[in-house]
Amino acid sequence: MTQFQKSTTVHDIDAENVLASMLAHLREHDLHALQKDNAWHIDYANTQITLQARENSLQATVQSVSPSSLYEGRMLVFYHIQEFSQCEAQAIQWDGDKIELQYPPSFRVVTVAAVSNIGPHLRRVRFRADNLSRFESNDNIHCKLLLPQTGVENPEWPTLAANGVPQFPAGDKRLDMRTYTIRRINAAEGWFDIDFVLHADAGPGSGWAGQAKPGQQIGMSGTGGRTAPARRWMLLAGDETALPAIARIGESLPADTMGRVIIEVQSASDQITLDMPKGMTVQWLHRGNAVAGTTTLLADAVQSCNIPADDSRFVWVGAEFATAQSVRAWLRHTVGLGNKEQLVVAYWRHGMNETQMKKMPAKLASSKTEGQEAGS
Ligand SMILES: Cc1cc2nc3c(=O)[nH]c(=O)nc-3n(C[C@H](O)[C@H](O)[C@H](O)COP(=O)(O)OP(=O)(O)OC[C@H]3O[C@@H](n4cnc5c(N)ncnc54)[C@H](O)[C@@H]3O)c2cc1C
Repeated sequence: MTQFQKSTTVHDIDAENVLASMLAHLREHDLHALQKDNAWHIDYANTQITLQARENSLQATVQSVSPSSLYEGRMLVFYHIQEFSQCEAQAIQWDGDKIELQYPPSFRVVTVAAVSNIGPHLRRVRFRADNLSRFESNDNIHCKLLLPQTGVENPEWPTLAANGVPQFPAGDKRLDMRTYTIRRINAAEGWFDIDFVLHADAGPGSGWAGQAKPGQQIGMSGTGGRTAPARRWMLLAGDETALPAIARIGESLPADTMGRVIIEVQSASDQITLDMPKGMTVQWLHRGNAVAGTTTLLADAVQSCNIPADDSRFVWVGAEFATAQSVRAWLRHTVGLGNKEQLVVAYWRHGMNETQMKKMPAKLASSKTEGQEAGS
């Protein structure tokens, strides 16, 4: 099988310490390195990474079966060396096979094919794009959308610097990044749907969706983020931002799944038809005139649930930060659910845009690949 290879040697860093910190960090993410012949070897998604510390330099070699997986291995090495050594990006240059990629492999330019309203505050946009198979997985249903500024007719897209690092357009051509759920996808037919909440105080995501028209182009990258694994008993809960994820997770569950679905929306007119297993009861909560993200409606409803002491149960919640925080604390400390039995993600934060939310200190809001898993 063809192997592609690139190597880098980063000089003038505290190589032993950087390597130790990297290995410890990767272990936390279930990437375990094996030591052999004075080097550390990691297997990562069809990619072999070798790391070796020599006095003040750290050498990394990445080998992989395809240019795109080689690129992802290189970026894993790049971002971790940079994070733990605090070196400049230019200090990490690569030698090896000549592979020219136009964009990062996780990036696509996607074109609006159709726009429809599936509720007064929920707009579905169907996008068309080639080569969507990496996005078609029920395990990773989230993506980042890269949204051009209003009125920009010919957007510019991220390019790759010589060392592989994505370079984003700046100024009027800058792209705002927002996180969304791929509601439906058919890679063979080349389309996917995103359901956008049209919310008050619209930011780049909601604002873009409000004016979306067939033919417009945006960028997309991903996928990322965990979802809910199928279990015998499930609780799925969230507000309208989580409705696309809840609908998609529900559709993929075995027909004999038992449990509950709790969704907060503004009013009955925001309710949509869900295709859930028969044994999962669906409850809609209406916040009426209250401002989204300011009530305890959803947290109260979740916390009044009787979570069975079943060894096959899972609770998934996507909601505003304060709700997510309160629910997660309850699940952990009152119900006693372990990390493998629940996933609570802050999908947005009242009074903060997504960029500000992601910049919150780790202790206040530990930022994962997607949204934030609310601290307890
Ligand atoms: C993993 C993940 C998946 C997501 N999937 C979806 C999805 O499929 N569909 C979807 O619509 N959203 C989804 N979201 C939520 C979405 O990313 C946020 O709502 C995001 O803030 C929207 O960006 P924006 O540019 O519209 O607003 P921002 O610029 O981020 O924020 C502007 C202002 O609007 C407020 N705001 C943000 N969201 C809301 C809201 N829902 N209601 C009221 N005020 C709000 C903010 O507090 C801020 O004051 C998801 C989030 C995560 C983390």
